[in-house]
Amino acid sequence: MSARQATIARADWKRPTARRVETVRRRLREAYGVPVAAPHADPLGELILTVLSQSTNDRNRDVAFLRLRRRFDSWEAVRDAPVGEIEEAIRPGGISKVKSRRIKAILEAIGDDLDLEWMRDAPLEDSREYLCALPGVGRKTAACVLCFSYDLPDVPVDTHVSRVATRLGLLRPGAPFDEQHDEMARITPPEAALEFHVNMLRHGRRTCHARSPACGECTLRRICPSRMDRAS
Ligand code: SF4
Repeated sequence: MSARQATIARADWKRPTARRVETVRRRLREAYGVPVAAPHADPLGELILTVLSQSTNDRNRDVAFLRLRRRFDSWEAVRDAPVGEIEEAIRPGGISKVKSRRIKAILEAIGDDLDLEWMRDAPLEDSREYLCALPGVGRKTAACVLCFSYDLPDVPVDTHVSRVATRLGLLRPGAPFDEQHDEMARITPPEAALEFHVNMLRHGRRTCHARSPACGECTLRRICPSRMDRAS
């Protein structure tokens, strides 16, 4: 797509209808099923796990998380530990110097009781605002905590979800990440946040690749405006 076409696409973008969103969801469900992941009710663990997931793969993230949990017997112990010990524990997860400082800063900012369970019943906006005020925490991390811990209606928008949703016209081309989160939360039925996130992520990893999307074998090709752009 040329720069001029991209500008036109941005100007022409309209929020998708509920029917169109449902069609996308249904086709993704048919391709990938409905993800089964019961909310685990551990928002603090999810918060730290999401910090560890930055700039690494799932396996290294999980290794770092397990090492952290084995080395310290509580989150209070992590909070009070020298940052070098945290760094050593999470080293397999990469950029451990940055992540260890962030984890300690987050735990210190939450305070003495390290309690986030109030988010289960709090207004979503209050929880989101609280999380985004923690050091280094943005909308994606906040959405991961709320969605995976308590199945609350916030959709994490990572690079895969962002790319697929933008190509499908669900998001405004060029929209900043905060706007993308607002839009995804707006167009996704409350009970479908986890499903939509997981299936868009799967589609981005398996078919709608960043550089060479496999449009010819894509279950969404007949309704995808980006597919049509490439064919013209
Ligand atoms: S048709 Fe192509 S660009 Fe559109 S969602 Fe499918 S793989 Fe992605």
